[in-house]
Amino acid sequence: SRGSTKTHIFLPHLVASMEQVEQTYIMVKPDGVQRGLVGEIISRFEKKGFKLTGLKLFQCPKDLAEEHYKDLTSRPFFPKLITYITSGPVVCMAWEGVGVVASARKLIGSTDPLQAEPGTIRGDLAVQTGRNVVHGSDSPENGKREIALWFKEGEVCHWTPALALWISE
Ligand code: ADP
Repeated sequence: SRGSTKTHIFLPHLVASMEQVEQTYIMVKPDGVQRGLVGEIISRFEKKGFKLTGLKLFQCPKDLAEEHYKDLTSRPFFPKLITYITSGPVVCMAWEGVGVVASARKLIGSTDPLQAEPGTIRGDLAVQTGRNVVHGSDSPENGKREIALWFKEGEVCHWTPALALWISE
């Protein structure tokens, strides 16, 4: 025997206080899927250090698209937006982390890709508002609402990444 050695016990679920942990709904829109940008877009959030908790390829029905974008119903581009979102499969994602909602919006960039900074997803990969390749929730409340809207119970997976302690202290 080598005698007693102090063992460090890590408690990954205590890494961040629960109030700081947010969920956001990220979606690769049909243009992103058609253009083969799914892996690239997932990578941006993975590399940043956020936790993927939900992922599926999905053909969005019209009523779901209308519900998702219900705040934009009165806008002139609404019919075009619904046609766009339902025009082919999308990739639905739930991501979790401290400050993930605002951070994901920064990673995504401005709604108009020509205004989006280089280094952002839209700034690097898109040119038009009507083909801006990705969606991200605009508030923690909408993050929860949209994840509940796009995922069935059991499709969101709660897990502890082995690297959690190397992402946040
Ligand atoms: P964001 O997606 O950046 O949160 P908004 O909530 O303002 O932006 O709009 C939702 C989506 O509606 C945009 O991402 C885009 O796909 C579409 N959209 C917004 N404005 C326009 C527009 N003027 N013309 C066409 N599509 C638009």
